[in-house]
Amino acid sequence: EKPDWLSRALARAGAMPQKEAEAAIKAGRVSINGHVVKTHLSPVPPDAVLKVDGLPVRKVAPTLVLAFHKPAGVLSSTARQHRTGTVFEVLLPQLPTELASYTWHAVGRLDVDTTGLLLFTNDDKLVAHVTSPETLLPKRYVATVFSTADEERVAPLREGMPLDDGPARPAVVRVRDEHTVEVTLTEGRHHQVKRMLGAVGLPARALHREAVGDITLGDLPEGGFRLLTDAEVREKL
Ligand code: URA
Repeated sequence: EKPDWLSRALARAGAMPQKEAEAAIKAGRVSINGHVVKTHLSPVPPDAVLKVDGLPVRKVAPTLVLAFHKPAGVLSSTARQHRTGTVFEVLLPQLPTELASYTWHAVGRLDVDTTGLLLFTNDDKLVAHVTSPETLLPKRYVATVFSTADEERVAPLREGMPLDDGPARPAVVRVRDEHTVEVTLTEGRHHQVKRMLGAVGLPARALHREAVGDITLGDLPEGGFRLLTDAEVREKL
């Protein structure tokens, strides 16, 4: 294996994004085997000990995934931003120190009023895997609707209905009761569930995501999180 250069090694280890790493290196905050190195293209020998601000960086970051129960009224942003009212503002202060140092990305987005399962990970590739329509990973939603739902009304959702931005893929739909409809999609366009239900005269009063792949919320309270095990990530996403 070729050695990574320093800024890339720090990014891959999940210590910080590459751009930030370059700045930290330039500022003299980073050392390799105890020597401060100020060039971000310096090669990192195998088994080198990297430190940022004197604290060791794990060499290869494990892929971490956590499940978060998004409350209503909290804005979904995909990257950590200096904005208030986002999911990061609710999640990050809860993380124990050893988790707080990773660069977390939200896996997709939910509308501000939508509640339920939102995954976070430090691994860009996992974000792409889960959110890409090519993966066909099912996302299960449950909508509370104003009007009365029945089999006839929801039938078009199963057939790949036309939407402004092209036909939707056929959805799996179950009418749980006359005001509760479960919709499972393998894609995730903007407001997609609401648009599909709206188009058949069933505007959603509330929307909740129950599952992504085979990951479910379980008994996570709103605003709470749990770290997924490696086996869950391997088998359920
Ligand atoms: N579909 C929607 O309409 N909203 C969401 O938040 C997710 C899926």
